[in-house]
Amino acid sequence: MIPLFRRLLLCVLTLSAVLITASTAHASKDAPVIGFSIDDLRVERWTRDRDYFVQAATALGAKVNVQSANANESRQIAQIENLIADGVDALVIVPFNSKVLGNAIAKARRNGIKVISYDRLILGTALDGYVSFDNYKVGEMQAQGVVNAVPKGRYYLLGGAATDNNSRILREGQLNVLKPLAAKGDITIVGDQWTPEWDQSKAQTIIENALNANNNNIQAIVASNDSTAGGAIQALTSQKLAGKVAVSGQDADLAGVRRVAAGTQTMTVYKPIKVIAKSAAEMAVALVQGKTPAFNTKLDNGKGQVNTLLLKPVMVTRDNLDILVKDGFYTADQIAGK
Ligand code: BGC
Repeated sequence: MIPLFRRLLLCVLTLSAVLITASTAHASKDAPVIGFSIDDLRVERWTRDRDYFVQAATALGAKVNVQSANANESRQIAQIENLIADGVDALVIVPFNSKVLGNAIAKARRNGIKVISYDRLILGTALDGYVSFDNYKVGEMQAQGVVNAVPKGRYYLLGGAATDNNSRILREGQLNVLKPLAAKGDITIVGDQWTPEWDQSKAQTIIENALNANNNNIQAIVASNDSTAGGAIQALTSQKLAGKVAVSGQDADLAGVRRVAAGTQTMTVYKPIKVIAKSAAEMAVALVQGKTPAFNTKLDNGKGQVNTLLLKPVMVTRDNLDILVKDGFYTADQIAGK
């Protein structure tokens, strides 16, 4: 028989253990739980990000809960709120709209959750880290790629989604290359537009209209990724101009790479997804464990300086497509469509 005061003591100890466990539900530092909130898993590149991220995080002992907002900002906010309620240790977010997640993120951080912005910078709110490729450099490569093919002529700038901070940075990089050439009179920028949701068919419509308005007198399209490039090239194909007009891209999407091989797309940019995914997983786990992750710069997101890791993109043309095979991104047969 346990004496009364010992039973009382046991009760108190058990109760406080339960309370401690409840209040630190998201503090298991050896096996953290990471919420990965992705803008849109319907887009090829993000499925790769998800797969590599889950692989890398699992190898580090973490568990991952993946959510896709399918390009819907209120759905993304609701999913983030649910991940917070589930008591995740870290949130890794690819924002659909860079400007609307402030309240949800502030709430997460008040709850001790580490928040990392993945590939696209979240604006106007404090973050624990950001990992991306050097998007300014990607923009420079896109412009330089088409300039190499068509040094003189009429250029159209096909931007990404206006809701994505990367679209603006890419444009800055593109203009850094193009402005001096426009000032010299070598090129004329005949128009520019953002493509809602980076959507391929919307990009096609934009280029159909641009070709129409310019009587097909366009020699280069600086497209900001491979899906918008795909739309542009469909519009060009209808006018029998595919392969005659230089078109840039990025992501090394399989369709984009095949177009580069076929000569209808001038270049793409290879961003080794495995590297960004692994870096993000390492960053999340390190932050949860109170360690300092590998950052190499700081970027201003309108709220302050965000600790950032920027990775190196690689320009890909028909001449160096083999690096995608060497790096294990595709097999030669995949590129050849076999
Ligand atoms: C990414 C690109 C991607 C685009 C559309 C951008 O933020 O950096 O790699 O193609 O979003 O998903």
